[in-house]
Amino acid sequence: PLILGLESSCDDTASALVRGQEVLASVVLGQSDLHAEFGGVVPEIAARAHAERLDGAIKQALDEAETSLNDIDAIAVTAGPGLIGGVVSGVMMAKGLATGLNKPLIGVNHLAGHALTPRLTDGLDYPYLMLLVSGGHCQFLIVRGPQDFTRLGGTIDDAPGEAFDKTARLLGLSQPGGPSVEAAAQGGDETRFRFPRPLLDRLGCDMSFSGLKTALLRQRDQLIDEKGGLTEQDRKDVCASFQAAVRDVLVEKTRRAISAYLDETPASPALAVAGGVAANMTLRAGLQDLCAETGLRFTAPPLRLCTDNAAMIAYAGSELFARGKRDDMSLSARPRWPLDQNAAPLLGSGK
Ligand code: ATP
Ligand code: FE
Repeated sequence: PLILGLESSCDDTASALVRGQEVLASVVLGQSDLHAEFGGVVPEIAARAHAERLDGAIKQALDEAETSLNDIDAIAVTAGPGLIGGVVSGVMMAKGLATGLNKPLIGVNHLAGHALTPRLTDGLDYPYLMLLVSGGHCQFLIVRGPQDFTRLGGTIDDAPGEAFDKTARLLGLSQPGGPSVEAAAQGGDETRFRFPRPLLDRLGCDMSFSGLKTALLRQRDQLIDEKGGLTEQDRKDVCASFQAAVRDVLVEKTRRAISAYLDETPASPALAVAGGVAANMTLRAGLQDLCAETGLRFTAPPLRLCTDNAAMIAYAGSELFARGKRDDMSLSARPRWPLDQNAAPLLGSGK
């Protein structure tokens, strides 16, 4: 079946056409230009932009896939979690299309979209272990099915992407911070500064990243006090040491998540990492080594499918479609929608 996917839960207006594991088109219209001057995503501006741009994003996807609305079999749309105005824009558009075309409507959890992406890109079998690590999220999930997730733990405060962004700000590097901090860390000495690795002594998979920025701020100010500023090498060493701290926390907690996951003796054990921070090569190397050591297959979807996009929504929609899930006009936009409570509300609104 050919599924049209729509995504508008944050600051990307996206539309995609997916058939099975084939992505026929994936259009992502970013809005960073609209929000740049405000230093963050402005919900009202985002919502209006989604409402204005969804139509164009859909047309562009149909053109790229050389198909028409009549050929699609169902419409999948992000119904949460996210900025409510944007989610409402997407859900209204999807309802309009579903009604006008008389096609099934399927509400998709945005996080489920991210979590199912390794099935789209690498065909992973259930259950697999997922580390979702981005600017807004950091959690371990055992993915058992399109509506069946077990959360093993996650950050209790900041997400690692946020920590990278704050670090870049503190050091005067460009945004988004991840790529600029990673670049600056090249040639840095990761052992020069010992930044904290919080919660490593605590059982379980919970993590904390908010203390890192305080430690980093203190270190920066100490360097400024001592020598009036940071040299190029100081900055490299700070970035490398920061990146190593994030890697160590994530790798160590992943080790614990793997141990819980392997207790279930999965047939083809695998770890998938997704989210913007998954682009980080130091982190990837650490996770890859850990997987080699513990006998797991390691996968990381290509970045364009790791960050927000509609192909993941269409794909998640296609798995739900195959399992008979349908929503009706009562589908509502949900600002909050934790993954491990996925089954109940979805089944409740399905036919
Ligand atoms: P979410 O979609 O989870 O609500 P988001 O839209 O902020 O959050 P993504 O687009 O998945 O998340 O990822 C963006 C984040 O990833 C930013 O915080 C950015 O700094 C970080 N990031 C991108 N590239 C890298 C990198 N190479 N190393 C570390 N972090 C990175
Ligand atoms: Fe996302």
